[in-house]
Amino acid sequence: MKLCILGAAAGGGVPQWNCGCGQCILARAGSPRVRPRTQDSVAVRGPGSGIGLLNASPDVAVQMARTEDLWPRGARQSPVAAVVLTNGDLDHCLGLLSLREWQPLVVYATAAVRRDLCEGNAMFRTLERFPGQSTWRTLPLDREIALGDTGVLVRAVPAPGKVPVHVRRAPSVEDNVALVLREDGRRATTVYATAVGRVDPLRGEIERAACVLFDGTFYRADEIVALCGARAEDMAHVPIGGPGGSLAALAGISARRVYTHVNNTNPILDAESAERAAVEAAGWQVAEDGMEIAA
Ligand SMILES: [Zn+2]
Repeated sequence: MKLCILGAAAGGGVPQWNCGCGQCILARAGSPRVRPRTQDSVAVRGPGSGIGLLNASPDVAVQMARTEDLWPRGARQSPVAAVVLTNGDLDHCLGLLSLREWQPLVVYATAAVRRDLCEGNAMFRTLERFPGQSTWRTLPLDREIALGDTGVLVRAVPAPGKVPVHVRRAPSVEDNVALVLREDGRRATTVYATAVGRVDPLRGEIERAACVLFDGTFYRADEIVALCGARAEDMAHVPIGGPGGSLAALAGISARRVYTHVNNTNPILDAESAERAAVEAAGWQVAEDGMEIAA
C-alpha cells in the first residue's frame, strides 16, 4: 500500500489567503524555511487498479494535476475509484464540487455526514447531473470495508470531533472519524487521524499501527485565541505541545509517525523553529505535499 500526502495543511492552507503572519510571508516568498502546503488530502493505492482519495480538499484539482498517479488513464477515465470523507468540514469535502465534470464518483461518508451534505444542500446536486454520477455509500463505524477496487481495506473509528460550523444540529458520534487502512491480505495498518479532539480513544489503534498520520493542526492550545477567540480544544484538535499534547501522549509508540493537517499558525512549519526540532527529536516527521509513504 502506498500513501501520497496530496495536501499537508489544515483549512486555509499555507500561505492562507488572508494571513500576513511571519510564516505565511515566508511561504509566499519561497523561503525554504516554510514550504507552501495545500489542504489535507491523501491518495492511497493498493494492489488493485483504482486509487482512493481520503478527503477531497478545496485544492483537489491542483493536487491531482501535479500527481501523475492521479492523471486520467484515457479519455475521461480517472483512476480515482472512491473518495472517503472523515468529516463534513469544508476543507475535507469542498473538493467534491470540483470533481463534477461528467465523471462517476463513489463517495463514502458516515450516515450523519452524508445527510448533512446531501439533504437540502443545493450545490451538491451538481453531482447528480446524470444517473449514477455520484454513488454515496455509508461509511460504517468499526467495520472494515473494501475501498472500491483499490485493494485497500478501510475501517472508520469514531474520533472526538465537532459538528462543522455550517451544520446546525446536535453532535453525533458519526461527526468525525479516523481511518484505519491496510492492504488486503496484509496485517500492517496505517491510521489516518487529522482531526482529533483527544488522543485516548485512538491510542490502541495507534499503538497497533505501523504508521500514523496524526493531527498536527496546532502546537499550542492557545495558538489562535488572539485571532478568533477559540482554543485548539474548542476546534476538536488536540495540540502537539504541552502536558496534554499529542507529543507527550504518544511518546513511546513504535509506529512511523507523521504530523499532517498543519495550520499556518503552527511553528513546526518553520524548519528552523525550536518546535520543529522538538517534534523531530521525538521521532516525528512533518508532512509536506507530495510526501510518499510505503505502508
Ligand atoms: Zn499565516
